[in-house]
Amino acid sequence: MNVATILAGKGRDVTTISSTADLLDVARSLSAQKIGAIIVTDDGGAVSGIISERDIVNAIAKNGAEVLLRPVSNHMTQNVITCHDEETTSDLMGKMTQGRFRHLPVVNDGKLDGIISIGDVVKMRIAEAQLEADAMREYIASG
Ligand code: AMP
Repeated sequence: MNVATILAGKGRDVTTISSTADLLDVARSLSAQKIGAIIVTDDGGAVSGIISERDIVNAIAKNGAEVLLRPVSNHMTQNVITCHDEETTSDLMGKMTQGRFRHLPVVNDGKLDGIISIGDVVKMRIAEAQLEADAMREYIASG
């Protein structure tokens, strides 16, 4: 199973925000959408960063609550690791483990085309394990 399979189930909508928005806007959007990270896009729609709940917690811990009125650009991660439709759950787990993050924007042909969270990957791995167990049971029963 790959990224395209996961997105066929969850859809390709992605919550984005401008780098000039402030951290309070991000917190409100994360809360309203019940998500953990937002993709920062520039005017042309290209990915210019990612900001997650962890970045907000770190910013407040370091600077105090007034940081909530500072722009996203000061606190987002600029070097964003992405994935594409053909990558497998195992590829995604490798990238998330190595980068120590829980979100991967999907970019196909240079265009933002979805987002995968660690929850999506876990759900897909459980489905894969179930399929393997079913196939094994069927094989044993047919012998
Ligand atoms: P998360 O685990 O997604 O809450 O993110 C933990 C940290 O990694 C935060 O500083 C994020 O800005 C950063 N981060 C999240 N996703 C990515 C990604 N795909 N590429 C690079 N950094 C990321």
